[in-house]
Amino acid sequence: MNTQGLKVGIVGGSIAGCTAAIELMRIGCEVTLFERTGDELKDRGAGIGVPAAVFETLVRRDLIDSSTPYFPGRAFTRRWRTPGEARYGYLAWDQPADLALLNWGVLYRNLRKRVPDRIYQAEHRVAALRVQSRERVAVELAGGAAPVFDLVVCADGYTSLGRRMLFPEAGIEYAGYVLWRGVLSESELDESAPLQNGVHAPGYPGGHGIFYFVPGADGSVAPGTRMVNWGMYVPIEEISLADFFTDKGMKRHEGSLPPGGMPLATETELKRQAAGRLPDYYMGIVDRSRNTFAYAIYDCHVPAYRKGRICLAGDAGAFARPHTAAGALKSINDAIALAEAIKARSALEDALTEWNDARTETNNRLVTYGNQLGRALVKEIPDWSTMDAAGMQKWFASIVDVPTALLDRNR
Ligand SMILES: Cc1cc2nc3c(=O)[nH]c(=O)nc-3n(C[C@H](O)[C@H](O)[C@H](O)COP(=O)(O)OP(=O)(O)OC[C@H]3O[C@@H](n4cnc5c(N)ncnc54)[C@H](O)[C@@H]3O)c2cc1C
Repeated sequence: MNTQGLKVGIVGGSIAGCTAAIELMRIGCEVTLFERTGDELKDRGAGIGVPAAVFETLVRRDLIDSSTPYFPGRAFTRRWRTPGEARYGYLAWDQPADLALLNWGVLYRNLRKRVPDRIYQAEHRVAALRVQSRERVAVELAGGAAPVFDLVVCADGYTSLGRRMLFPEAGIEYAGYVLWRGVLSESELDESAPLQNGVHAPGYPGGHGIFYFVPGADGSVAPGTRMVNWGMYVPIEEISLADFFTDKGMKRHEGSLPPGGMPLATETELKRQAAGRLPDYYMGIVDRSRNTFAYAIYDCHVPAYRKGRICLAGDAGAFARPHTAAGALKSINDAIALAEAIKARSALEDALTEWNDARTETNNRLVTYGNQLGRALVKEIPDWSTMDAAGMQKWFASIVDVPTALLDRNR
């Protein structure tokens, strides 16, 4: 298709929004991106795992620098605290994996620096979208302006305005637990060696933890300068969520508590509960971490990825649980696939139809996969200390249907 002059508006300037802006700009579209926050607010400072093949794709497509620092994650090391192995836990299974473990901020800044400032309009909140005709959509900004576009991509995260407008029936469903997270400088560890390789996942009744090294905020990878990124799945009843997400200044947040917002009493109580669940080594990391944060885990299936000239991308579309390690993967693939479909087809309508069908099926299956993982690893987690590697493998295969075809990781 001749894309020259195709005017595209993008709502949201994080992983999905930046990737869409870069890819669409490169095929000749006239792109404008609206992000409600200022740049400085974007660094979430925590770790993120993406399949190694996605990292290679990002480099190959020049979405990130080839020198972007990461650590390889070749296994999920599944452990369980026992009286005999209280410090590190009983080793149940080194489950093979192939991840690149990155610093979220470093990934974001790599994408962001490829979007020119004239395109990336920070501190521009989108208040509404108005369909003007079959081929025109106005993006109404909180400041009052309403520029008109041929195509609008909503990459505005899991509470997406675009999703709510296109598919009000596609509600987000609480999974019954939250992810409590923290980061700790390696310099505060009493020993680094046990965390040397991959992702450590100590299990406990009601959930499991994740612990892994990521590069420091400045990208440093030298031993001693790394960051430990950790998270623990914690069941919280839905009725208690509003209290849980009330910060120390008594402000209520929707589904998350930012770093520094958690009341000390809540953090102390979570640490007290963790002490009986985690092996002592991992508990030491949790205990020394300050300004921990949390977000609720949701599922969201969507009936489609577009209506007319409005599309969804990233967490604005279907929303899978973090066990899939696929949030960033999905965001990036949605954006790349959109640009490729537009480039390949002679009519925009055909390109959008083809892209919509593929993304709807792939991403909704990813949500189902995340749901199965949540059941296996949180809600119905068995006592791993009674299982060996062969038993663990059998149990996992019996409960989780790994969707090889859907994880289009080699894009
Ligand atoms: C700390 C952390 C760790 C994570 N770890 C992993 C991991 O290990 N593996 C993984 O794959 N995924 C992980 N994820 C999830 C992954 O980062 C998300 O899936 C991914 O960021 C989704 O990107 P997105 O661009 O779709 O949405 P978001 O990153 O949520 O961005 C949405 C953007 O839209 C903007 N916006 C919203 N509404 C408006 C509006 N009305 N007007 C203008 N702008 C608007 C927001 O300010 C935001 O910048 C993690 C997420 C976090 C926060």
